[in-house]
Amino acid sequence: MCGIVGYNGKEKAVNILLDGLSRLEYRGYDSAGLAIRDKKIEVFKAKGKLDNLREKIKGKRLKGTIGIGHTRWATHGEPSENNAHPHISNDGCVTLVHNGIIENYREMVLKLESHGYKFYSETDTEVLANVIDYYYKKYKNGPMDAINRTMVRVRGSYAICVMFEDYPDELWVARKDSPMIIGISDDGLYAASDVPAILKYTRNVYYIDNMEVACLTKNKVTFYNLNGDEIKKELKEIKWNLSVAEKNGYEHFMIKEINEEDEVIKKTFNSFVHNNKIEFPISDDELKNIKQIYIVACGSAYHVGVCAGYIIEDLTKVSVRVDIASEFRYRHLELDKDGLVIIVSQSGETADSLAALREAKSQGVKTLGIVNVVSSTIAREADYVLYTLAGPEISVATTKAFSTQLIVSYLFGIHLALLKGKITNKEYTSLIKEVSTLGDKTKKILDKLTNDIQKLSSEFANVKDAFYIGRGLDYAISLEGSLKLKEVSYIHSEAYAAGELKHGTISLIEDGTLVIGIVTQDDIYEKTISNLMEVKSRGAYIITISPENIDIPFSDYKIHIPNTSKYFYPSLAVIPLQLLSYYISVSRGLDVDKPRNLAKSVTVE
Ligand code: GLU
Repeated sequence: MCGIVGYNGKEKAVNILLDGLSRLEYRGYDSAGLAIRDKKIEVFKAKGKLDNLREKIKGKRLKGTIGIGHTRWATHGEPSENNAHPHISNDGCVTLVHNGIIENYREMVLKLESHGYKFYSETDTEVLANVIDYYYKKYKNGPMDAINRTMVRVRGSYAICVMFEDYPDELWVARKDSPMIIGISDDGLYAASDVPAILKYTRNVYYIDNMEVACLTKNKVTFYNLNGDEIKKELKEIKWNLSVAEKNGYEHFMIKEINEEDEVIKKTFNSFVHNNKIEFPISDDELKNIKQIYIVACGSAYHVGVCAGYIIEDLTKVSVRVDIASEFRYRHLELDKDGLVIIVSQSGETADSLAALREAKSQGVKTLGIVNVVSSTIAREADYVLYTLAGPEISVATTKAFSTQLIVSYLFGIHLALLKGKITNKEYTSLIKEVSTLGDKTKKILDKLTNDIQKLSSEFANVKDAFYIGRGLDYAISLEGSLKLKEVSYIHSEAYAAGELKHGTISLIEDGTLVIGIVTQDDIYEKTISNLMEVKSRGAYIITISPENIDIPFSDYKIHIPNTSKYFYPSLAVIPLQLLSYYISVSRGLDVDKPRNLAKSVTVE
């Protein structure tokens, strides 16, 4: 989940590495480090954010033009300078940075200790450096052979960038289940775990696949498979422009990305709808035959799945099962052969979601990815992919990617409902038309509500707990509102199906407890209102989010959103919820874009 950058070229490596790491800091910020080679390899590390590393190397003249850098999201060993990457093998022969987890590292430690190796850190990464060193010395067949043998021997997930003391002009890269790309420009070659790190220098990249190795010299990259045979790759062009990976005057990426939501909603819609018809890369016949849908995802993407579950089931009458990826993958479900497994993931690299996808494929069931990052692993491995066009999302807490995933889910539901004969052509056209208005309605909410919600948020900066309640789709979006609040503000919050509260949780309500009611669904809103009344009677402070035509007279603070079809309220209700979480976090003086203990793109289990 960390960020990796490597460079081998004509320029000084230090600036390129620091710049790249600053754009990847959202992927991990427990510590940072780099290794630069001039004559010898020099390693610098610091605990905490990248600025601490900058401070450490200030004034040093680092002339080397080859190096590797890392921002860490600790999995093995506390966040400390000692555990920070790069890690070095016992005699300094191998220096590497690593993203991922080596699952059998203990077994490797015992093996290496029996050969006299010693360890200075608690990380699995240091072990990896020494396993490579071990094979390098044992077989004396050079870097590629040592890395290949290591890949066969270790289990887990990794993307690594390696320098060998004996090969001063080469940078070695390998991966399994963790992302890595290789960039190429006239000034040199780059390795990075994510596109923004190198976008400033090049748009031309190669995607290195699982169990492949690459050797980067100053002007060329060569790829090899596990047998050591050279393989050819196609150069791809990244279409993003750099400004989307910068704050452009906003204080934080999160608020910038919230303000981009109306545009990315429209873009995503327009990429699938042409002349009022939804066009997907999956054939009508295949879709018509689907008997069961599984939606599998993690975190906010799972909440998109919960929303999609309600919508698709209602529209198409096909049964939808929504699962958390880390549960799904170990449940040993026998999947319906006529089923479709939909994986939702912003990064397209989420480890558990990827494993769920592979599980589905191994059972011969069709898979569809809803993914933001082009050519990411899930996008490449799924049978079909529907891209969300949110652009790069830097803030750890997702906002715009979430909104575009919802749009794709709506379109999928509408498309399938028509194919299954569950809606008429007229209903189809009118639902599509309504989806087309969601971008403008989002903009309206942003323009109208941002200032009010900012003021409101300062009053709630010190609450201890918050409860988000709703029924049906309102419950689904409560899940996202609650998660957003806890991840960026560290306030305890829970989402509850409104009807469930009285089965236990209502005992937590006392004078002043914050309860946020989502009340958008015509057929059940009266029931939610009764549940809100129940908590109001026990002293709760109530904020409600509802369309203009639903009034909740006793609500302490009413947030009104524009009207839409019952299916699409999640898109409109989530905007005030995101703003509320953002401004509460700002009022508390927290680092909104990089909340503690979290990292974007969870590539470990
Ligand atoms: N497992 C390694 C560690 O704990 C790498 C973690 C990461 O991906 O940042 O240091």
